[in-house]
Amino acid sequence: MVNIYLCSDAQQMKKDLGTVIGIDLGTTYSCVGIFKNCHVEIIENDQGNRITPSCVAFTPDGQRLIGDAAKNLLTSNPQNTLFQIKRIIGRKFNDSSVQTDIKHFPFTVIERYGKPIIKVDTRYGEKLFTPEEISAMILGKMCDIAEGFLGTKVKNAVVTVPAYFNDAQRQATKDAGTIAGLNVIRIINEPTAAAIAFGLDKMKQWDGAKNILVFDLGGGTFDVSLLVFDNGVFEVLATNGDTHLGGEDFDQRIIEYFIKLFKTKKGKDMTKNIHAVEKLRREVEKAKRILSSEHHTRVEIESFIPNEDFSEILTRAKFEELNIDLFRSTMIPVENVLKDAKLKKSDIAEVLLVGGSTRIPKIRQILKEFFNGKEPSRGINPDEAVAHGAAIQGAILAGDKCVIDNEIVIIDVNPLTMGIEVKDGAMSSIIPRNSHIPITKTQPFTTVSDNQHTVGIRIFEGERPMAKHNHFLGEFDLTGIPLAPRGIPQIDVTFDIDVDGILNVTAKETTGGNKKSIVINAKTNRLSSEQIDRMIKVAELFTDEDKLVKQRIDAKNELESYTYSLRNQLNDPKTLFEELSSREKSTITNAIENQIKWIDNNPNGKTDDFKKQKKQLERIVLQIMSKIHGYNSNNTRSQSSQYYGEL
Ligand code: AMP
Repeated sequence: MVNIYLCSDAQQMKKDLGTVIGIDLGTTYSCVGIFKNCHVEIIENDQGNRITPSCVAFTPDGQRLIGDAAKNLLTSNPQNTLFQIKRIIGRKFNDSSVQTDIKHFPFTVIERYGKPIIKVDTRYGEKLFTPEEISAMILGKMCDIAEGFLGTKVKNAVVTVPAYFNDAQRQATKDAGTIAGLNVIRIINEPTAAAIAFGLDKMKQWDGAKNILVFDLGGGTFDVSLLVFDNGVFEVLATNGDTHLGGEDFDQRIIEYFIKLFKTKKGKDMTKNIHAVEKLRREVEKAKRILSSEHHTRVEIESFIPNEDFSEILTRAKFEELNIDLFRSTMIPVENVLKDAKLKKSDIAEVLLVGGSTRIPKIRQILKEFFNGKEPSRGINPDEAVAHGAAIQGAILAGDKCVIDNEIVIIDVNPLTMGIEVKDGAMSSIIPRNSHIPITKTQPFTTVSDNQHTVGIRIFEGERPMAKHNHFLGEFDLTGIPLAPRGIPQIDVTFDIDVDGILNVTAKETTGGNKKSIVINAKTNRLSSEQIDRMIKVAELFTDEDKLVKQRIDAKNELESYTYSLRNQLNDPKTLFEELSSREKSTITNAIENQIKWIDNNPNGKTDDFKKQKKQLERIVLQIMSKIHGYNSNNTRSQSSQYYGEL
């Protein structure tokens, strides 16, 4: 038995991380949580609020305000109060969504090196900020909130992003963390974080794969994600939504209603009075929140306009009537994710509510009706669920004893592809790079020669197509394979990586049942993160060359497996070849024998040679077989392609 530790980041990260905070960096609000004394604590900011506006303001007297204080300046200093920066982070300036968004921003966004840059007036003159810098200020504020609570410095954080964020947006979010002086040890998807918050312990008791629909309706964005949770691994199956739908749209409908009412009653049009409208916006939002638990409330504003107060009743029924079309429209993305993932409503095991706007009773009712009476989950505060999950993920990465004691699954990734060496030294990958662990995968292989008694299993990790260019992890032989022509025996090779990144490789001959395995977990052969980075860079450097190597290997494999499975089928009384005359059979036999000779004599043939040879053989076979009803060349191909390689 060989013992080698795998280079999973879980292994490396557990050391001395201290408290890892979880930050939900939202479009309108952000939230921070920590895992302490075996539970998640969502931390209040200096205003006593558990969520903090993702807002940054620069005042004429030289202050920089972040959070609630900044949001309060939206009306009085709109050109220098920045919000919804998440909409433009990691995007190009000429991206159509950036172009649409900046039209609605009261602050200025200009182009620099193809990127959107925010221009503000400060006491020290005009200043330019990247979206990363502004996001860094918000992350820094969230970190301060956590430090104030903990009384110690915080260095490490898990930050969440929408599932649809691309690489550039994720990287930009990570960079924002770095600018804020934080080490972002993991970026995780918001719906995954919400699902973790829902309760991994509960999910672990589920049998088999379960589908989870995350319905995330916040202040300005609406995201629906369909995840499958299987054996401790989350996979995002589909995402959909509306990047411009949320609580602020519901507020806007009420504002328009009140402005109209005010005009009818008092004869004054407030549409252009920015200050009055912003005052109304603040009060309307409060009223909307109240209507999630009460059936009516009064909206009151002293000195709405000079010498005039505002006082109106708003009922839940009126609020719903004003917004019912928007509420109903939220079902379209839900239908879309189901369609994209090819699932039915009844296939959904859990519907999770995320985002402050899912507190609205009517939305919950519509969603429940859509799922034929299935109650959406309301376990955790919807506006805190994402930060809650991020905090748990942080504790998992920090190796918090409590999470480990509770056997919460580590959601981690293997940083390099893992696989085995097959014929001609090629690497057949079994677990792709960045797969979430724990993970188990089995692939069938076959023999390379007739009557082969033993196969060697050589295990590697790395991204290159030839095993010798990758990192060797261990090896063993499986013996006792029943004697049979090449390509007949089936050897199932299983890679199982557990929560600690320990790889267990098993090879099993399917008919005889002979089985052997190896545990690869020792410290002796571990790669450092620098080595991993280097390997990935080298693989990228050789991408073009490797592509050619892979094409050649594939062409050779296809020719060989076609030839050998043809030979096996020819001798099998259960196949259509039985219907041939002995002359026809011997023509094909000769062609196969010649082909095998050619393969043996041309181990270093070129890609085109292998392709040409295969076409020739196919032509001979088709000519003879075309008269037999039901035959096509795929009959042979499908049998040969069931294996991932020969050992
Ligand atoms: P989020 O971005 O997830 O924090 O959601 C913020 C949005 O949720 C804002 O538009 C809030 O007005 C809205 N919201 C928060 N609490 C409630 C509530 N109790 N009822 C209705 N909407 C709410």
